[in-house]
Amino acid sequence: MIFKTAAELGGLIAAGETTAVEVAQAHLERIEQVEGKVNAFLHVAAEGALEQARAVDARRAAGEELGPLAGVPIAHKDVFTTRDMPTTCASKILEGWVPPYDATVTTRLREAGLVILGKTNMDEFAMGSSTENSAYGPTSNPWDLSRIPGGSSGGSSAAVAAYEAPLATGTDTGGSIRQPAAVTGLVGMKPTYGGSSRFGLVAFASSLDTPGPFARNVLDAALLHEAFSGHDPRDSTSISQPVPPVVEAARQADVAGLRVGVVKEFGGDGYQPGVLARFNETVELLESLGAKVVEVSCPSFDYALSSYYLIAPSEASSNLARFDAMRYGLRVGDDGTRSAEEVMALTRAAGFGPEVKRRIILGTYALSSGYYDAYYGKAQQVRTLIARDFEAAFGQVDVLVSPTTPTTAFPIGERADDPMAMYLADLCTIPSNMAGNAAISVPCGLADEDGLPVGLQIMAPVLADDRCYRVGAAVEKALEDRWGGPLLGKAPAL
Ligand code: GLN
Repeated sequence: MIFKTAAELGGLIAAGETTAVEVAQAHLERIEQVEGKVNAFLHVAAEGALEQARAVDARRAAGEELGPLAGVPIAHKDVFTTRDMPTTCASKILEGWVPPYDATVTTRLREAGLVILGKTNMDEFAMGSSTENSAYGPTSNPWDLSRIPGGSSGGSSAAVAAYEAPLATGTDTGGSIRQPAAVTGLVGMKPTYGGSSRFGLVAFASSLDTPGPFARNVLDAALLHEAFSGHDPRDSTSISQPVPPVVEAARQADVAGLRVGVVKEFGGDGYQPGVLARFNETVELLESLGAKVVEVSCPSFDYALSSYYLIAPSEASSNLARFDAMRYGLRVGDDGTRSAEEVMALTRAAGFGPEVKRRIILGTYALSSGYYDAYYGKAQQVRTLIARDFEAAFGQVDVLVSPTTPTTAFPIGERADDPMAMYLADLCTIPSNMAGNAAISVPCGLADEDGLPVGLQIMAPVLADDRCYRVGAAVEKALEDRWGGPLLGKAPAL
């Protein structure tokens, strides 16, 4: 049961060949079996999940026609508010906080009949690339338990790669869906900014944050994308346009005549040879499938990482001001002798981890008077240059491709004391956040050096999310024929 795709499970439940309860139970058993090794979840809602599953089975018994994902289990990143489960963002400052409302993404999962198994581990407030910044301990990569599952959505990627759930949600501010998907052999998609709602998503960098799906194949990712995306009047940056035809594109899986641009700036020094080898082979594969491949230069992409590390911390420093010990979660030192300011300072000192504090300090500095124009203002100008590079590139080609990350999953602890090395994991993913366009990561093989998964990143223009799925599905189909099944089938059993 746990090895089936989400589409298969949804089909079996709708046809009455299995029940949502049976499917939920199988996944809850799997969670019990492997969580001791993986630590993908911060909270497992076994009773709640079975209750949701029973409701789906009752709807079917009453003759209701079920949607494609009704009864399918999902792991939900702990950055989305859930009114029946804690929402901590893997921070001590929100320990035990149960929100009074559901995020729009949560509401839409429930409406689609998805069964929420629990909330997944992450880097605190989504700051990181390894899930080591969680206040509740790191998550392991199911391919090699001594390695990181990516981040910040590493609990979600690990849960799906370990067959604890066929689907998961994530959020991508600088790469937090695509990078964990790449290093665990999954499909992970960052929709067009504003294509999925931020309402009820605990804010990190509001102009970049984008919810998106994780799945073990392209079609499943498209089904989930469709289920929770689309216009939300409660999010002021939500796009009021229909969701691009992502499911249709995933089924189309065809690249004949498509113009594919290889980003010249992404490759060479600092890239693991095994990553480049798989990437280059996949480009050749695209050509053999009928795509026209050209090299494209996007010179401003070289400055994406540095400008991101001004803009994202700036927005974070402002967004995280709300954790003031008065409104949510933790309160330290409130013994009647201290002022509100003292309680606030003690709470923030105790409640935030080191990376979060680093970002708040960096962001406050970049926004302070005298430095605002030199740092934040300049970074915003670079952002415009990046968007213009994309615009020029998409005048020549339909999609751009690159490796998703420069390296495969690194060992837990290796980059923990070196923030710069950690930040480099998002070198190739950040430009699409800066410009707001769509981008996906699909598995493209294993690196020779370490036998670990490599991801192909496919970037498409704003609101052309369907192209990511179309190309991703074509690559997946051709590679699975070669491999004799999904890449994840090659992962060592847990
Ligand atoms: N790794 C990047 C960071 O630490 C991106 C995180 C994300 O996309 N949420 O900011």
